[in-house]
Amino acid sequence: MQIDEKLEPILAEVLRRNAGEAEFHQAVREVLESLGRVVAKHPDYAEDALIERICEPERQIIFRVPWVDDSGQVQINRGFRVQFNSALGPYKGGIRFHPSVNLGIIKFLGFEQTFKNALTGLPIGGGKGGSDFNPRGRSDAEIMRFCQSFMTELHRHLGEHTDVPAGDIGVGGREIGYMFGQYKRLTNRYEAGVLTGKGLAYGGSRARREATGYGAVYFVERMLATRGTDFAGKTAVVSGAGNVAIYTMEKIRAFGGSVAACSDSTGYVVDENGIDLDLVKEIKEVRRERISEYARLKRTGTHYIENGSIWDVPCQIAMPSATQNELTGKDARKLVRNGVLAVGEGANMPSTPDAVRIFQEAGVLFAPGKAANAGGVATSALEMQQNASRDSWTFEQTEERLAAIMRNIHDSCAETAEEYGAPGDYVLGANIAGFVRVAQAMRALGVT
Ligand code: GLU
Repeated sequence: MQIDEKLEPILAEVLRRNAGEAEFHQAVREVLESLGRVVAKHPDYAEDALIERICEPERQIIFRVPWVDDSGQVQINRGFRVQFNSALGPYKGGIRFHPSVNLGIIKFLGFEQTFKNALTGLPIGGGKGGSDFNPRGRSDAEIMRFCQSFMTELHRHLGEHTDVPAGDIGVGGREIGYMFGQYKRLTNRYEAGVLTGKGLAYGGSRARREATGYGAVYFVERMLATRGTDFAGKTAVVSGAGNVAIYTMEKIRAFGGSVAACSDSTGYVVDENGIDLDLVKEIKEVRRERISEYARLKRTGTHYIENGSIWDVPCQIAMPSATQNELTGKDARKLVRNGVLAVGEGANMPSTPDAVRIFQEAGVLFAPGKAANAGGVATSALEMQQNASRDSWTFEQTEERLAAIMRNIHDSCAETAEEYGAPGDYVLGANIAGFVRVAQAMRALGVT
């Protein structure tokens, strides 16, 4: 899609000011492409440098994270927290531990998070953090020391009314526990609402662990319903084998679909009888091993392919749930040739711009991550509600709220796309609906 000429200089300035941050450029370009229709209809949104301000994080924190490994060696990593936008509420967004993490990646994630959080309709601003720390092969004691050191610096920037992190790639229940423990010790406050994704034993919410995956499947189900169909009897492929992928697979199965394949960063596994979820959970959540173990442990009807593309596996529904830019134009063409009907992004920005274009031109239902995977952060906001009222809800109650939120997000994206003359374009719908909510709040708050 072309960028509106009024918005061209804004993009040029973002590229200039954030040189070399390819993922951030990609995320901003996609949103600005959608906003042409907004400024054409409501030129006032182009005033007061509102769009320029939305593209500039409110605050960016970069810090040293020193820690001692099991052999007594001192290690250094870099920590980040980008507090992108607080017009709707405290900064909210996950923390990622992965060797690829750099400022540009955290900025792209924080930018996306701002619109995603707005789409949930809940009072949360956008932020993201992380470190280039590689948890792979590290002992539990090393993970704990790293988390403590990371939080020793970060804690001064957080607070239940200020900034509320959660997990992301490489950060799950264990890491949140160690970070919460350190925050509590440093501040001498039992401030449960300062982190989400906590364990049930100390203030976590039921259904938070399942929420991103379940939510993405709820979204796709509603999208399929617009074509009079559903998951029953359909074959899906879900990339990844982390928290998002596991609970995406679980819900697809509950809705009567089957899952042919899943993956990790080294390869993918295909199971003719449908992926055995208990085995994936055992390998990934308990043993913390590679997905190749799946084929080793379960020989019949299963094969493991190293370094190939999981998108070669034929399916009707594709749910990329691993990481950014994992699904390329070439993969999208293959999926279209194999008859894919719907694509729902469980990860953040997993499809390249080429891939998105190919899906949309082929008439494939396409749900962008900032809408489809918003169930995770939405349930984090429900965790904050429970913490604020010192309450804890049942699984059913929490999942019911999640399902309703996902229906609302779907419908507001669909209605916004229609209103702006692009029916069925969920990318446009999500970008505009998210933008309008943030922009209205920012305008009301004056030049800040
Ligand atoms: N990391 C998740 C996301 O990308 C969850 C963030 C949260 O719960 O704050 O939305």
